[in-house]
Amino acid sequence: MSKVIVIGGGPAGMFAAYFAAKNGHKVTLLEQNEKLGKKLYITGKGRCNITNASDMENLFANVCSNEKFLYSAFYSYTNDQVVDFFESYGLRTKVERGNRVFPVSDHSSDVIATLTKALKEAGVEVKLYTKVTKLLTEEDVIKGVELEDNTTMYADAVVLATGGISYPSTGATGDGYRFAEGLNHKIIEPSPSLVPFEVQESWIAEMQGLSLKNVAITIEREGKKLYNDFGEMLFTHFGVSGPMILSASASIKPAYFKDFAHELTLKIDLKPALDRDQLDKRILKDFEEAKNKQYKNSIQKLLPSKMIPIIITLSGIDPDKKVNEITKEERMRLVDLLKGLPMTIIGLRGWNEAIITKGGVSVKQVNPSTMESKLVKGLYFAGELLDLDAMTGGYNLQIAWSTGYLAGSSIL
Ligand SMILES: Cc1cc2nc3c(=O)[nH]c(=O)nc-3n(C[C@H](O)[C@H](O)[C@H](O)COP(=O)(O)OP(=O)(O)OC[C@H]3O[C@@H](n4cnc5c(N)ncnc54)[C@H](O)[C@@H]3O)c2cc1C
Repeated sequence: MSKVIVIGGGPAGMFAAYFAAKNGHKVTLLEQNEKLGKKLYITGKGRCNITNASDMENLFANVCSNEKFLYSAFYSYTNDQVVDFFESYGLRTKVERGNRVFPVSDHSSDVIATLTKALKEAGVEVKLYTKVTKLLTEEDVIKGVELEDNTTMYADAVVLATGGISYPSTGATGDGYRFAEGLNHKIIEPSPSLVPFEVQESWIAEMQGLSLKNVAITIEREGKKLYNDFGEMLFTHFGVSGPMILSASASIKPAYFKDFAHELTLKIDLKPALDRDQLDKRILKDFEEAKNKQYKNSIQKLLPSKMIPIIITLSGIDPDKKVNEITKEERMRLVDLLKGLPMTIIGLRGWNEAIITKGGVSVKQVNPSTMESKLVKGLYFAGELLDLDAMTGGYNLQIAWSTGYLAGSSIL
């Protein structure tokens, strides 16, 4: 039996602690907060999208960074096993749209309560209000940890599961990066991901709160296509958000969002079901029906009302012009705008709004079959602290469960 310390009472740390204890080790789980799973509590808008019930191929396809590193972890502890784990402790689950798995109760607190029960049953000692300040090593072997009150705790193995740095109010401090870096681990620069965009155009604020469904977006860098998608998005007072935008933020290189020398443009196709000719015919039909009206009163059927004044201004057509006086050239300008409403992306929103941290402890220095450090014996990593991130849909928690399992169950 070894003495094991797990740092961080999030999903990854709780799973690592549970499985290490189940393997017969004496496990202490250290959490700086007043309770376990503070971030878990706010997942899935308080409902906790525990995992995704799709096949392995799809799980890997939704991982954005280092999916190959996750091969052992995902196969060692699958999404089905995650569901079985929770069901075996009495938490009933359901599958929703997009194979997203949630507790039947729709309460993330039930997921945390289930984990707390499992930890207790496995004999894990949980210490809350306990902040680790340092990892102790001797000749590249882990020896224990130092706490904020300057006391030390010795251990044969330490699992570092301190998470990323998004949503700092949940305890995401970046401590783990400092600890790992202090032991010569390379840290891939953390950047916010699954996060809204800020855009330059001031008219954006006038569309605040407007959500669009069934639109297509294209993101271009200096005219070169980087990303396209179809679905839902939302305007905010600073820019754009919603499912498509969050996914785009995770798919595009973080450096592009800081590189102001190369323009990053978002174009929204407001009428993706129609090609340019079809859209032109549709506009002509609307104009025909409103032929004695002014332009500003003629496109109500085409667009949500909040958008109309903006499109009128951007089209450069005199708002008071009679519809039957609008030229073909002017109409084509309107078609262009509706097929590609352009915005300049000037950056990502910050850590307070990022669902996930991209970057973290480089996986090159971590054994993918055990999660043990290749540099420090007895030091294991799990969860978002690692340079791993995925799309929304339960995939990020699957990373936490699988790597937590692998770290906890690999300790000898
Ligand atoms: C708003 C929001 C919604 C989300 N929804 C979903 C979802 O529905 N499905 C999904 O798959 N993913 C979701 N995610 C992502 C998911 O929550 C994270 O990927 C996951 O929590 C990472 O788990 P972790 O255990 O690695 O880190 P965390 O959950 O961040 O846990 C790390 C813990 O370590 C503790 N800690 C840090 N430093 C120290 C220290 N020095 N000493 C002691 N303790 C320390 C922290 O207090 C924290 O409790 C969401 C994230 C956010 C922000």
